[in-house]
Amino acid sequence: MNPRLLVGVLALQGAFDAHARRLAELGVESRLVKDISDLDDLDGIILPGGESTTMSNLLVASGLGTELSHRIQSGLPVFGTCAGMIMMARTIQDGRPDQMSLDAMDIQVRRNGYGRQNDSFEQDISVTSLDSPFHALFIRAPIIESIGDGVEVLASVNEHPVLVRQANALASSFHPELVSDLRVHEIFLSIIHESLTTSKR
Ligand code: GLN
Repeated sequence: MNPRLLVGVLALQGAFDAHARRLAELGVESRLVKDISDLDDLDGIILPGGESTTMSNLLVASGLGTELSHRIQSGLPVFGTCAGMIMMARTIQDGRPDQMSLDAMDIQVRRNGYGRQNDSFEQDISVTSLDSPFHALFIRAPIIESIGDGVEVLASVNEHPVLVRQANALASSFHPELVSDLRVHEIFLSIIHESLTTSKR
């Protein structure tokens, strides 16, 4: 159980409910984040999959984007999945020219990078620190084209990273919230716990 954690799930658009369910299964309280005030007192935030251009529009229109980016850059742990990972990327290829980036991780991603033939696929992947494979679902997934020096690769498919970490930020090109295996969410919770023990709170 994680009785004292409160984890936000960005709930402007996309697959936020499934993340909230996974957190509940882990005994973690979650809060759907739709307004700036919903960011207060969070121990971490999840950016779900969905459609990153729509999410970007809504983040800009609500004013939430600037504040969220500020909190993440001040150290709020963040976990982005699929479209959420696109939102975190420093550089977005094949996005809309005005698409917002939260600049939460030094990665370059290409939207829908696995192409039409491979629009959606599933694959067992090995993840650093997990002792058996994780069944990963890729849905019109972004491909990670390159990573900066500070980014650690936790899993790859065909030489492309699919699960990456930089400091308090975790990102996956697949959808761990759509399977019953909770281990990738547990990795995020351990990042939150690390951040709490190293901060002065
Ligand atoms: N292709 C979507 C985008 O560009 C992401 C797909 C997903 O989150 N499943 O935002």
